[in-house]
Amino acid sequence: MKIAILGAGVTGLSLARFLVEGGLDADSVHLFEESSAPGGLCASKNVDGFTYDVTGGHILYSKDKPAMAWIQEKAGGADAFVEKDRHTRIRFGQRWVNYPFENGLGDLPPEANFDCLRGYVAAWHQRQTTKSPAPKEFGAWVQWRFGEGIARHFMDPYNAKVWKRELDFLTSDWVAGRVPDAPVDDVLRSAVGIRTEGYTHQAIFYYPKNGGFQAITDGIAAPLRPRIRLSTPVREIVRKGESWRVNGEDFDLVVNTLSLTFLPDLVPAMPREIAAACKALEYNGIVCVLLALDRAAHPDLSWIYLPHDSQGPANRITYMSNYAPSLAPKGRSSLLCEVTTAGGTPFPGAQLERDIIDGLARSGLIRRDEVLFHDRTATKQAYVVFDHGYAARRQAIFAWLDSVGLWTLGRFGRFEYDNSDQCVIKARGLAEKLLERARAGQ
Ligand SMILES: Cc1cc2nc3c(=O)[nH]c(=O)nc-3n(C[C@H](O)[C@H](O)[C@H](O)COP(=O)(O)OP(=O)(O)OC[C@H]3O[C@@H](n4cnc5c(N)ncnc54)[C@H](O)[C@@H]3O)c2cc1C
Repeated sequence: MKIAILGAGVTGLSLARFLVEGGLDADSVHLFEESSAPGGLCASKNVDGFTYDVTGGHILYSKDKPAMAWIQEKAGGADAFVEKDRHTRIRFGQRWVNYPFENGLGDLPPEANFDCLRGYVAAWHQRQTTKSPAPKEFGAWVQWRFGEGIARHFMDPYNAKVWKRELDFLTSDWVAGRVPDAPVDDVLRSAVGIRTEGYTHQAIFYYPKNGGFQAITDGIAAPLRPRIRLSTPVREIVRKGESWRVNGEDFDLVVNTLSLTFLPDLVPAMPREIAAACKALEYNGIVCVLLALDRAAHPDLSWIYLPHDSQGPANRITYMSNYAPSLAPKGRSSLLCEVTTAGGTPFPGAQLERDIIDGLARSGLIRRDEVLFHDRTATKQAYVVFDHGYAARRQAIFAWLDSVGLWTLGRFGRFEYDNSDQCVIKARGLAEKLLERARAGQ
């Protein structure tokens, strides 16, 4: 069986490794990658001794222990990783507020604490007494779930910064398991100053000691190197009887991990309405700006959220050099600033870096004179945007892809909000299925 895997990000690489580990001849696996290096969204970049993850600070964690062990083993074993406690905060004026926000109400100025608590209790009471269903619109859902105060002081401005759209443009479907849901008692405790913890499944995370997050994809890719065709963009995918032709070459099977939005230009047989559905999928891009700092140490934080426009355009900054000492030269440190962009809109110009630095300085997080240099990486597709047409479009797209036997996997290959561990888990699942079919001679 000759297989073409389109894309050498963590999904394509993991799929290839699982297939080979499952007994498939390595020579039958062919990865197409348009970039000059594997890694995709997991890539890291080194500039003058400072390393950063190009699509924002990445951390490794997973509820799936075998997947976690598999990832670590591929990247040099557990000893090649640092284990870190997650310390995240929200910057609110000149204060640090515990994260998630509703676990940090006691850190707010008293008036804001009161607004948030009053709204939270009112929303909770409303839900208990009316049994009102969760609204479908994200903005309305925020009010329904958290109340007016938390919406006004944190959720609305923060989400406006991230999504760059009216909040009701998004559905509330995606929030299950993503937006932390604290028990009411915890919120009451936090408001009166008793510490409570939320979002505990990320409480500990792992990060490669050397090379940035990309050490993971480098490790998965290492034995596959001869199988990866770098700088080789996929230009055409054509169905040919029971098999496929990619860039004019025959394959028994194709697994796509490229964005669904690219497929209309690559698959000439795609019906017009399916192509339109692919093109209409909504996403956001990201510009990540590294600030190299002439400062030996940071506060003991992993990353922080910046909900307010007065804090500049970044919505999140990661204390990158806190992840592993190798990420900055001795005596120096780094911050990684994330700014999202609405899908398809041009990336901001050079004013962006000035605005980021001004915002961070105003917030008391850096001094302008300690910035040694900055470096940016812009990525067109970073976040799936869950608008109201999302589910119907995906259903139509997958029905057609299934009908022609074109497998598709990965964050943008399926348009799902997957972290790298989920990519590995799904690659493992598909590999098992394909190996079973190969054994059955199908
Ligand atoms: C801001 C942000 C923060 C994140 N944080 C975390 C985190 O903390 N922890 C975590 O585990 N995950 C995190 N993730 C998710 C993680 O980065 C992704 O889930 C994962 O990298 C997706 O891998 P993939 O292989 O599915 O897709 P990709 O990495 O996008 O791989 C697709 C590959 O296809 C290639 N390609 C594109 N077009 C063509 C073409 N025409 N021909 C050939 N090749 C092509 C690309 O170059 C790329 O290498 C984060 C993602 C983002 C955006």
